[in-house]
Amino acid sequence: MKRAVYLKFLLAYVIFGFFSFLLVATFSDLLIRERVTREEAASLYAEAGTISRSYATSLYTSESTVESVFVQLHSLSSYLSASIWIISPSGTVLLTSSELTDLSNPQVISGFTPQMSGTYYTTGDFFGQFSEQQLIVFSPITSGYKIQGYVVLMKPLSALSQRVNSYLTIVYISVALIFLLSFIILLFFTEVVYRPLQKIIYATEQYAEGNMHYELPVESDDEMGYLSATLGYMAGEIAKSEDVQKKFVANVSHDFRSPLTSIRGYLEAMLDGTIPPELHEKYLRIVLNETERLTKLTNSLLQLNNLNTAGIDVNKSIFDINPMIRETLETFEGTCLKKDILVDLILTGDEMFVEGDQDKLKQVLYNLIDNAIKFSNRGGTITVETNVKKNKLLVSVKDTGIGIPKESLSLIFDRFYKSDASRGKDKKGTGLGLAIVREIIRAHGENINVISTPDVGTEFIFTVAIVDDDEMETVVETEEVDEDEGKKENNSTDTKETTENHPAETKNTAADE
Ligand code: ATP
Ligand code: MG
Repeated sequence: MKRAVYLKFLLAYVIFGFFSFLLVATFSDLLIRERVTREEAASLYAEAGTISRSYATSLYTSESTVESVFVQLHSLSSYLSASIWIISPSGTVLLTSSELTDLSNPQVISGFTPQMSGTYYTTGDFFGQFSEQQLIVFSPITSGYKIQGYVVLMKPLSALSQRVNSYLTIVYISVALIFLLSFIILLFFTEVVYRPLQKIIYATEQYAEGNMHYELPVESDDEMGYLSATLGYMAGEIAKSEDVQKKFVANVSHDFRSPLTSIRGYLEAMLDGTIPPELHEKYLRIVLNETERLTKLTNSLLQLNNLNTAGIDVNKSIFDINPMIRETLETFEGTCLKKDILVDLILTGDEMFVEGDQDKLKQVLYNLIDNAIKFSNRGGTITVETNVKKNKLLVSVKDTGIGIPKESLSLIFDRFYKSDASRGKDKKGTGLGLAIVREIIRAHGENINVISTPDVGTEFIFTVAIVDDDEMETVVETEEVDEDEGKKENNSTDTKETTENHPAETKNTAADE
């Protein structure tokens, strides 16, 4: 595995160290040097002031002799490590701390001007008097309100460098310590980012190789931990969907194989004479039934596949749901009569305009009523009812049939699921009806709920979006609405007043999702 991130971070660390030193070396040197010079100048200036007020003035007032002042200045000079000169305003050197001047032949500094621009100190070779650069401070000697001369203190700049260097050493040591301490950041980076990242990369490699069950350890609760957890979750979901896929294929194969086996069995028996020709018709009908089952299975699978791949393949329109419900119920008239089942139809409003895919919602209703009839005993009652709640229409399909056991409630919307009781009752069922219902409702962004009590009955309720009045105005203008249809009515194959007593006790409920 490449260690590119680590190397980049290391490089950044080295660059950080290099530039820190560079910056400190240039800026600190400049700032410290300036600071030290200013401090030194200030202390020299104070000394110069003292000298000019005491020794030098006494020289002019003839209170002291040149010799005695020289002795004092000489010792002061070595104490301050600076040269002390007393100069007249015209530039004549009256006294130096290094040697006693010959006043009969005094040294004159040509071009001497004591003015300093703004500051009380300056640097230079003092009018060519020194070969080395000096820090120079002036202090005027006043007597009788007149400037009699100047005390000049000079210190070689090289003498200051020592102090500057000692300060710089402290700074460099501090920077080096900080640089070493910042190594801790590198260690943190390794522990907090790099190592978890390596684990994540290893895990993704495992997933890429198809090992979806590889467990990625989540050790921290920071972003890295979150990433690991999310990745682990994703892999888990993929693994699960692979399992579902496998189960699905197994179910499909099984559901195809059993009718095919029986068809084959009957046809072979007919051919080899095990089934006598006079019974052929009976068995051919069974074979036909089985082929019907296969057709239904194929159709349902195709429909589910379309719903799944297209996802939101709903062709929404605004339509009156009442006639649609009536039509759907009418298709079951014959079956209901045969099973002696009563149907109650309780519709809200003369018209009820909803928005959705009319064909698909009809399929939902069809599948629910089909189940209600299938899982009802003779003489049962089926109630189809609509109710308005806020901007939704609740469509309920209720039966007084065998009910669904509590443990099956959460599974009935799964593909191929059939409860044990229904297996005996409905051999033709594929277990795909409710899966299709769920996909359609989901694609509409609506909900479906089920309430059931075994041996008492079952109720499925799904929601549909009602079209509000504003939208309706435009629809009414363009569509022709059948005036006679759609009053709130009890209209069915066998009409009966709504006195349905639905199981109130121990109701089992399950919601879609
Ligand atoms: P198909 O719809 O393809 O004919 P099916 O009816 O068995 O097959 P679903 O409609 O998906 O499949 O229903 C799944 C299972 O849920 C049923 O087999 C049955 O066990 C249970 N079930 C559904 N509706 C009812 C109901 N109204 N009463 C009792 N059980 C029901
Ligand atoms: Mg069904």
